[in-house]
Amino acid sequence: MSLTLTDVSLTYADGEDRVLALDRVNLDVPPGTVTAVLGPSGSGKSSLLAVAATLITPDSGTVVIADADTAGMSRDHLAELRRRRIGIVFQQPNLVPSLTAVEQLQVMAWIDGRPLGRAVSDAMTLLDSVGMADQADRRPHSLSGGQRQRVNIARALMNEPTVLLVDEPTSALDQERGMAIVELITRLTRERATSTVLVTHDRAHLAGADRVAEVHDGRLSILPDAAAARGASLGQKTSRIREV
Ligand code: ADP
Ligand code: MG
Repeated sequence: MSLTLTDVSLTYADGEDRVLALDRVNLDVPPGTVTAVLGPSGSGKSSLLAVAATLITPDSGTVVIADADTAGMSRDHLAELRRRRIGIVFQQPNLVPSLTAVEQLQVMAWIDGRPLGRAVSDAMTLLDSVGMADQADRRPHSLSGGQRQRVNIARALMNEPTVLLVDEPTSALDQERGMAIVELITRLTRERATSTVLVTHDRAHLAGADRVAEVHDGRLSILPDAAAARGASLGQKTSRIREV
């Protein structure tokens, strides 16, 4: 039940020309593992997630989710796949201002046409696992940035997806809260056996990653040794502390 991208290329229209956003990308993310994706701004990280989420159809190549090839699926079929199989966490938690934390999650079950009774208990279980059970009745405006991101993550998991796609979830948070969010994502990946792709700009976030990939000009390479990548990150951190 992996997430598998094979030879995926994507271009966007740019006036008369086209800009190459993904260049023959290959990526396989087994269940229960986190692949961290690094890369400079504009290198194609968000495009990679959009293609994996089936929000954008690539020019060529295949995206296979839970053993199903998404090429040639109808719009309705893709929408159902996204609803049932894919959890997406964007940079900014786009919660509905008028809904409480528990309602943000319930809505997902409602959209999927599932009975509400079970949804309440599922939602509470999830809020508990992200440390937000005691905030279930709060609306977004009365939550901190970190708490909102926790609700956002819980919501992405509400329909028990097999794939979890996370785009720079900590950019609005300080280092400590950011690390806590990344640790949460890693733990939930193991517990719920999701194939998780975590886009991050922060090497400190590689600590829990099973694999580390880098994107440059739309080309993705898996770093041969995730442990070495993490070591490099520790080294960098130490030297930064020394400079200070
Ligand atoms: P990243 O997330 O790594 O910053 P993106 O995937 O957002 O990179 O962008 C990759 C490239 O594609 C960039 O050159 C960007 O300008 C371009 N791009 C992204 N989205 C669009 C779009 N909707 N239309 C045209 N070009 C786009
Ligand atoms: Mg981006």
